[in-house]
Amino acid sequence: MNYRPDTKFIHGGTREEPYHGSLSTPIFQTSTFTFPDAEEGALRFSGEKDGYIYSRLSNPTVKVFEEKVAVAEGADMGLAFASGMAAISAVFTSLTSAGDHIICSNGIYGCTFGLLKLLKEKYQISHDFCDMRNEQQLRSMIQPNTKCLFIESPANPTMKLIDLAWTADIAHECGIKVVVDNTFSSPYLQQPLRLGCDIVVHSATKYLSGHGDVIGGVVAGSRSYIQELAQTAQKDYGGIMAPMDAWLLIRGMKTLPIRMDRHSSNAVNIVEKLKQHPRVEKVNYPTDKDHPDSSFAHKQMSQGGGVLSFQLKGDKGDAQQLMNQLKLVRIAVSLGDAETLIQHPATMTHSLIPAKDREAMGINDSLLRLSVGLEAWQDIWFDLLQALEGCAHKR
Ligand SMILES: *Cc1c(COP(=O)(O)O)cnc(C)c1O
Repeated sequence: MNYRPDTKFIHGGTREEPYHGSLSTPIFQTSTFTFPDAEEGALRFSGEKDGYIYSRLSNPTVKVFEEKVAVAEGADMGLAFASGMAAISAVFTSLTSAGDHIICSNGIYGCTFGLLKLLKEKYQISHDFCDMRNEQQLRSMIQPNTKCLFIESPANPTMKLIDLAWTADIAHECGIKVVVDNTFSSPYLQQPLRLGCDIVVHSATKYLSGHGDVIGGVVAGSRSYIQELAQTAQKDYGGIMAPMDAWLLIRGMKTLPIRMDRHSSNAVNIVEKLKQHPRVEKVNYPTDKDHPDSSFAHKQMSQGGGVLSFQLKGDKGDAQQLMNQLKLVRIAVSLGDAETLIQHPATMTHSLIPAKDREAMGINDSLLRLSVGLEAWQDIWFDLLQALEGCAHKR
């Protein structure tokens, strides 16, 4: 399909099955599939014939979502999971055995951090955090048992970037697979596989859904890797996506391009305003000209996306007071929804990370993360402004 991205997000993966002409993909709400005869059942089990068997192995609605993601990421195949964490844990366990080693970029998602801790405690799979912009540091951390480089770019919530193409080259020299958690960018803004990375994971809960009404995850990669993952981590651990959730995600993905355009332009406007406010110490946004990585942001991201973080002049109390004054912006973790959401990483998403490590990642007590929604940006800014001014007066 040689269509432009906006068209691909709408039509990608939707034409394969005979759905009696239904424009919307039907929800195949079934656990199992009947076989016309015994021989056909045997052939499907042996793999000699294609066809559905049981919804933990494959389901037509879920398959459409997987194909949509594959088209969007430029991957051979996609594989859906019950959550972003189910997808990430499937990838980690597929690439490693007991005693192996993982290198991660700094500032990863809180539960991915928790998963790495669990893998270390139970299976002696060790990990190191690396400033992947520092070639010497990266090369010095690579060990013979290093099986995977795990990257979040932009990093949550500091919005620091990793040069994906450059890092993938170094990893491949050493025969190491590169996995990118592409949740923050979505495949509309960044396609890591096209930059040479090997595997992409998403929390589909965020931008792919776009409406805050589903938890889901997805992995995209080469045919051989995804087939292996389907036959192992997905089939036997069983963290599969439900057909109804896949349907919500298929619907969400059709509007991903126009949503990301609006999230991004709204965020750019809010960043400009926040930067001028005297109570704001610092604003982090990937494509902002004051961002340390903005020089290569445009090399790998077409726009900056909808997430930004900003540091207040003040402490934890000031950050909490600001949140409590907001009227339109909602206090919630998660991101990528129509509603603008604010959260306080130090006491919420990153509270399990020891304070010392957290500070080293650039997350201090007055940092707030904003997932800029689809509202009129002036209304979002007016709400932030009245909260900033309100706090100033109380001081
Ligand atoms: C939310 C999130 C996850 C986890 O996804 P779930 O769908 O909540 O399991 C992983 N990585 C990033 C970057 C996220 O934002």
